[in-house]
Formats: sequence, structure tokens, C-alpha cells
Amino acid sequence: MMNKSYDADVIVIGGGPIGLASAYFCAKQGNSVILLEKFSIGNQQGSSAEHVRMWRIMYTELNHAKLAIKSGEMFQALEKEADVRLLHKNGLLNFGVETGYTPEGTLNTAVEVMDQLGKKYTRLNKRQIEDRYPFKNLPDDFSGVYQEEAATIDVKETLQSLLRLNKINGVDIRTGERVVQMVSEANGVIVRSETRDYVAKKVILCPGSYVNELIYPSFGFKFNILLWEMCFAYYRITDPTLTFPMWFQFDQPRNGHSNLFYGFPEAHFARKGFVRLAVDWASHTFMDPHEREFSPRKLDIQLTREYVMQHMKGLDAAPIDMGSALMTHFPDNLSVLDFLPKEHVPYHKNIVLCTGGWAFKFTPLFGKICADLVNQGETDVDIREFSILRDAIIQPNERKNRMKHSLFWGVIFSLLSAFCYSALTTLIKINGVAISVPILVFIQSAFCLVFILPIMFFKFGRASLNLKQFSTIKKQHLFRTVFSLSIGYCLFLAIKKIPYFDAVLLYNAFPLFVPVVAFALLGTKMNKRLWPFILMGFLGVALTMNIDVHLVSLWAVIALLSAVCAAGSIVMMRKISATDNSLKSLYYYFFISTIISGVIAIPEFHEITQTSFMLLMAMSVLFFFVQYFLVLSATYTTAQVVSSTYYSNIIFSLIFSIFLLNNALSLSVIIGMVLIVVGGVGVIFLQKNLKKLK
Ligand SMILES: Cc1cc2nc3c(=O)[nH]c(=O)nc-3n(C[C@H](O)[C@H](O)[C@H](O)COP(=O)(O)OP(=O)(O)OC[C@H]3O[C@@H](n4cnc5c(N)ncnc54)[C@H](O)[C@@H]3O)c2cc1C
Repeated sequence: MMNKSYDADVIVIGGGPIGLASAYFCAKQGNSVILLEKFSIGNQQGSSAEHVRMWRIMYTELNHAKLAIKSGEMFQALEKEADVRLLHKNGLLNFGVETGYTPEGTLNTAVEVMDQLGKKYTRLNKRQIEDRYPFKNLPDDFSGVYQEEAATIDVKETLQSLLRLNKINGVDIRTGERVVQMVSEANGVIVRSETRDYVAKKVILCPGSYVNELIYPSFGFKFNILLWEMCFAYYRITDPTLTFPMWFQFDQPRNGHSNLFYGFPEAHFARKGFVRLAVDWASHTFMDPHEREFSPRKLDIQLTREYVMQHMKGLDAAPIDMGSALMTHFPDNLSVLDFLPKEHVPYHKNIVLCTGGWAFKFTPLFGKICADLVNQGETDVDIREFSILRDAIIQPNERKNRMKHSLFWGVIFSLLSAFCYSALTTLIKINGVAISVPILVFIQSAFCLVFILPIMFFKFGRASLNLKQFSTIKKQHLFRTVFSLSIGYCLFLAIKKIPYFDAVLLYNAFPLFVPVVAFALLGTKMNKRLWPFILMGFLGVALTMNIDVHLVSLWAVIALLSAVCAAGSIVMMRKISATDNSLKSLYYYFFISTIISGVIAIPEFHEITQTSFMLLMAMSVLFFFVQYFLVLSATYTTAQVVSSTYYSNIIFSLIFSIFLLNNALSLSVIIGMVLIVVGGVGVIFLQKNLKKLK
């Protein structure tokens, strides 16, 4: 328990621009403030190394543009108070081709945002770009947009001014003071540095790339960040009559790198007579900031050098003053600006975190928001997009506590999926004979795509349907689609050729394949104590289905293959759910599967009767819910639990067959059903207890 008086109302950890701005606004709001920085103010170890950053309003997201405008006004207020110039207006030229989403957004979407804001811009074709600016040999399909309000930020002056203003406002700045742990309690936070303990009512945490180093020892979870060692260099201007703008070139990725380049104009506060250019990419990426190497990467500099030789005029292509800075990337490229998550942190509103993203341009705004959050518990700025709880921000294996609490929902969704699946296969058996399997699979995928489009639209907005995002889809989505499609082809084909229950039985062997497939694809080891229950479940399946010798045929092997694919699909879904939103994953799945199954179905196309069409509709609705509930289930619990509960589809199938096909229940079937339930429930409980023991 805390039993000493406070060292300060607020402790700010991290003396980069965001930490300094937060301390400044806290002090202005009447708090006593201590700022702890492990190196020095203006150090080159973090994200704010070097002289220049871009301030711009040409953004793909309207809210970002509005935030930048607000922040620009706050920069001007700081300039006035410190009597300095921080923003040097020089306009921004974006040019190139439409690409998938890049760290800078895309070329044309930013134009739409400018229109919405009523901001002026100039459109340029390739020739106009080459005539007005020092570029050459640009591809013919390049076009550009120039927006005059953008500015180069003087990084060092910003840091120095904030430092000065902090001192004037009584902030106690302590450099060389590394914080190693925080403890959040009911009446404040203990901040442990390498030299002593501090106590404050609230903490603002602005540690940049070093965030996990402090969060993990304090609260046992980690953020899902990837650090880029971004290299840059200066190039001498050989033709001073040319106008070098601030610019960004959009292009499609090439030879394993982003093919995105950017540059700044000559700045008197940087290197006079030189411009600073770089590739917007890093060949060296890692998660632990200590893996950083300070010498600039040969490849990254070489790429920029080649760009200068091929596409720029009036520059000497010999790079000088090369350096690098650490960029902190969350999967969606945005910052996190929020209280720490309540799932992991007691009295979570004691600590506000701001890290990651392209945030220099938001320095005063983010600083003010941090101060408002600790002082008032809220901000009047819309910061929902920077939420700590958005998808994939916290590392998945560290969300185990949340997962344990959601076992209930994992089981419920898996049961619902199993129910829909049994209804679907029963429908195929009763009525589906007239429709060929490729057509069936294609129509299902296409219908599901149509079902999910409005859901995506209303939940995530029009931008979420943009096909450009498919260029960034990970291999996992493709694997998952191929596995899931293959289940349909194998199982539906087998159901038509061998007895319904035999095919369903073989399909239901998939939980046995899950650990094998998880090991093969992801290297995941399975706990041996789960095996007896899974085997018990399989024995139950065998009894329920009254397995017989005729099963060993080509069609039986195909049915068994559907089980392998189902295991693969579940494992991939689980993997994807750790980083991607479940609805978006489904959208990708239905989109890709419609294309693949459409191509496969072309030779099979034939006229479909009205009755068959209605049936296909019903099957598609069921199929949609099978997938939707399964994805939800995998989001809440483990692959083993999903698969074990999914056994219940046999029981549902039996109930359907008793009522729709007039089948009778034998003793072996009753025993089988009991074994299935005991096996499934046993796995679920064992799984839960194993977690508790850990
Ligand atoms: C090459 C490059 C180009 C960029 N271009 C732009 C751009 O054009 N426009 C833009 O808006 N943004 C840009 N960014 C992003 C921008 O630079 C960063 O968002 C911003 O500098 C982050 O500031 P910060 O205060 O959050 O982090 P930092 O500046 O990294 O500061 C964090 C501080 O916390 C300290 N610290 C960490 N852990 C501890 C601890 N345990 N105890 C005490 N102190 C600690 C560190 O020493 C460091 O000084 C760019 C980034 C890079 C790398």
C-alpha cells in the first residue's frame, strides 16, 4: 500500500515531443509535474531523431485531417508563446499511382478529404510534375496533387521550446532517469526508476518504441508493435535554381520493398545546401528496441540513391549525413492514445498511454489530450480510432485472461455453428442431389458475400469495402479460404456418394487432426492430457454412426480429407482472430472464395429451377451462419475447445434425421452420444484447469 505523500500530481515518463507536450499542458492546468527521461532531451535513440518531420493535412481519413488542422493551430500558439518558428510552410506534392493502403494513405482518397474540407489543391499530370519540380523519367501513368498548407516541422526547435516552456511552468525534468516499473493502486501510482521510487496521483506514459520494456514487467502484457529502423540521408543540391518541394511518391511495391519515397526541401535549420530523402520502408524490422543498429542500412540508402540517379534532377547522388530513427508501428499504423486497458491494469484510469504512429504533427494536440485525460478523465476530441482496445493492439497470447472469461461464448457460438451445419448437410442430403457440388459451393460463397456487404458497410463504413485492401491480405487468409472451400468440395461430394452418416462421421474426425495441423502449420504443441477426452469423443462418433467396413473407399478418403481441411481452417481462423477483426476476416473469406469457386464452377453451369434456387438460398443462409458463428467462437476460445464442442453437430444431425428421415435411435447411438458429450465437456474443463494451473 502507498503510505507516503505524493512526489507530484502527475509523472510523465518519456521526454520525447509527446511527453514534453503532455508535461507542459499538465503544468498549465495547475498540476505539479515530474518528467522522467532515461536518456537526454533531444536524444537520437527514439522516434524523434534528426531535424525534420512533415505536418500535412492531405490525409486519407477525414478525422486525421481535422486533427492535423487542430494541431497546426496549437503549434502556432506554441510558436507565439515561445517566440520561435516551428512549422515552415512549404506545401506538399504527392504523386505516383493509386496503390493499396500505405503508411501515408493513398493518393486519391486524400483528394476526397480535401474536397470535404473545402481545402485548395492543384492536380498535376506527369509532364507538369517534371516541368515544375526536379523530377525526371517518371512513368507516364503518374499524376500528382499539390497542397500548399503543408509544412516542415523543425524537430529540434520543437523539443527545445517545449523544454523551455516546461521549465518556465515549473516542470521538474529529470534526465538519465530510467523507469523500470509502475504499480497502480487505488490512490495513485508508484513509479520505480533505477534510482528510487516516486509516487504520483496519475501517470502519462510516452515511451515511444520502448513501451513493452515497461508495460510487461509492470502489468504482464505486451503491445503488438513492430519497430522499423528507418534510414535517411542528405543529398547536395547542384542546381540551386530548381524548387525542391516536400514530396511523397506513391508506387506499387517492387523487389520486396515498398517503392515509396519521400523528401524534404532544403531547410536552414537542417543542412544548408542539401535535401533530405529516404525510402518509406525499412529492411531491418524487429520487436525489441535493443536490436537496433545505429549504422544506416546499406540497402535502404542504396534504394534512395538509385531513386535520386533515376528520377531526380539537380542533386549529387552521393549520400551524406546518413542516420536512422525508430518508427513504432501498430498493425493499423495508427497511434495508441488511451487509458491502459482495464483487463490488465488495476485502477487503469491512473495511467494514460500515448505511443506509436506518425504522431509528430500531433505533438501539441496529443499532449493536451493526455493532460485532459489524467485531469478530467475525458477529452472533447474524438480519439476512438486510437483506442487501446481496437483489434490486434495487445499481443494475443497476452489476452489469456480475457479468453478464459469468454469460454462460455466460445462454446455457445460453436454449438450454434454446429447446429446450422447439421441443418445444412441434412438439406443437401434430402434435396441437394440435383445441384452439382461446384455450383453449390459457388452460389453459397456468392450469397454469403452479398449478405456480408451491408453488414460491413454499416459497421465499418464504405472504405472497408475498398478492394485495394486485398493487396495487403496476409497469406493466412488465403490458406484459410482454401481449407474452408475444400471442406465443402470434399464433404458435399462424399455425402452424395456414400451414406450420409458415414460421411459426417469421417468429417467429424477433424478434432484429431487439429493438433497435428497446428503443429505442422504453426509449430504449436498440444497438451497430452487432452488426448484421452478427444479419443473418447471420436469413439462416441464411431458408435453413434455405427461405423462399418464399407467406409474404406475413395469417397471415404475424400470425406476424411474434409476433416483435415476443417482442422486446417480452424487453426488458421484462430491465428487470424489474434490480429484481425472477425467480420473483416469473413468478408475476405467470402470474397476470395467467390472468385475461386466461381472459376471452378464455370464448366458446370446449368439452369437452376425455382425450387432449387430457393433451396440454395436457404443453404446459403445456413452456410453464412455456420461460418459466422465459427469465426466468433474461434475469437473467444481455443481451437481445441471449438473442435470439441463442434462434435455436437452429430447430435443435431441425428435429431434432424430422426424427425426428417424417420431414423430410430439404437443403444450404441445413445452410448455414442454420451461419449461425445463427456469427451467434449472433458476437454473444455481440462483446458480451463490447465490454464488456471499455469
Ligand atoms: C524516420 C521517421 C520519419 C517520421 N516522419 C514523420 C512525419 O513526417 N510526420 C509525423 O507526424 N510523424 C513522423 N514520424 C513519427 C514521429 O517521429 C513519432 O511519432 C514521434 O517522434 C514520437 O514521439 P514520442 O514522444 O512518442 O516518442 P520518442 O520521441 O521516441 O520519445 C520517447 C522517449 O521516452 C523515453 N523513454 C522510453 N522508455 C523510458 C523509460 N522506461 N524511462 C524513461 N524514459 C523512457 C525515450 O528515451 C524517449 O526519449 C516519423 C518517424 C520516423 C522514425
